[in-house]
Amino acid sequence: MESILFLGTCEEDGSLGKPARETLGVASQLAAQLRASFAVGLIGTSVQEAANQAADSGATRFLGVCGSDFSHSRYATDAAAAEALCRAANATLILAPGTSRLMRCLPGVAHRLNGRADTHVTAVAANEGAITAQRWYYRQRMEARFTRSHRPWFILIDPGAAPVWSGTSRKVEVENIEVVLPDSARKTEVTGFREPEAGLNTIRPDADLLFVVGAGWTKKQPDGKVHAAEAEQLILEFLKHTRCSLGSSKSLVDLGSEGQPVLSFLSHLNQIGQTGSTPRHPKGLATCCHGEEPHTIGWRFISERRAINLDPQCGWARGKADVLYVADAFAVLKRVNELLKGT
Ligand SMILES: Cc1cc2nc3c(=O)[nH]c(=O)nc-3n(C[C@H](O)[C@H](O)[C@H](O)COP(=O)(O)OP(=O)(O)OC[C@H]3O[C@@H](n4cnc5c(N)ncnc54)[C@H](O)[C@@H]3O)c2cc1C
Repeated sequence: MESILFLGTCEEDGSLGKPARETLGVASQLAAQLRASFAVGLIGTSVQEAANQAADSGATRFLGVCGSDFSHSRYATDAAAAEALCRAANATLILAPGTSRLMRCLPGVAHRLNGRADTHVTAVAANEGAITAQRWYYRQRMEARFTRSHRPWFILIDPGAAPVWSGTSRKVEVENIEVVLPDSARKTEVTGFREPEAGLNTIRPDADLLFVVGAGWTKKQPDGKVHAAEAEQLILEFLKHTRCSLGSSKSLVDLGSEGQPVLSFLSHLNQIGQTGSTPRHPKGLATCCHGEEPHTIGWRFISERRAINLDPQCGWARGKADVLYVADAFAVLKRVNELLKGT
């Protein structure tokens, strides 16, 4: 019989973050389908609150590695904690959120336990007792379903791929798992977080809306002039009001390195598409972006897609968007910002 362990790290306030609750839902459902034993394993300064949050998940054991040594992402301490939790739970199947913190240490933990690890998994299912994992390959163009007989099997679920699990919070008994750290495990010290230099964090994976800007914002407009400063101000105001995540086409971010006018807060990290990212947001709005295939491939996981473009023949009109507004994005955004401001 499988022994399933949900493995998660606690947020700074001691709670379970969104990616962790998504994976908890997957683990809980799988355990119920397989009638497998199910434990929750947590790492953090204090894990009680997170364990209470998971009270309704069907888990019968709640294990924790706690203390200030485990408050922040650090390979040596996270790996030691995760290894101890897997051993204590005698886990054959470990499901963990694919956060940067756990992606960094769990493949190493799998190696220590002579296990196997799969990352970027988007779904896990049980079919007649066999567990199948699902993930995308070749820049989200091919989807594969696969299974493994080797145990322990570590499965890291991509954030945003599963619904967020929630249940009633209730006090549970947490088994404290002792981890004795060698001094060498404390060699790396986490001194804090650094924001991008512009002081504006425009990439927000948890936002409901992905707002994409294209090269059109810096191109000559019908009056024959470029309005880059106005574009920057309109976009910044929209970001401030909506707290959306900012994406860009490749053409726009490339313009910066070519010395042409570009929005100062954009970097290649904002690029969506074949050679950029493939984020997951419930809604997307593209502006001044043509909607070519290498760009829209990055929209695969955006559920509701809209675009604003002057050209009724643009790529978005050819089945890439649910709604295309054939309009001037400068005028639309100006009016939308007024509405958001309540004027
Ligand atoms: C191997 C390869 C990989 C690539 N990878 C990527 C990738 O990862 N991501 C990516 O984005 N691209 C990628 N590209 C490039 C991609 O093919 C396109 O060239 C790019 O997406 C075009 O960017 P754009 O739509 O912003 O610019 P443009 O094609 O210049 O389009 C600008 C649009 O703005 C509109 N516009 C102008 N003014 C206004 C206005 N006032 N209101 C409304 N609309 C207006 C115009 O009608 C036009 O449609 C890749 C290409 C290759 C060959």
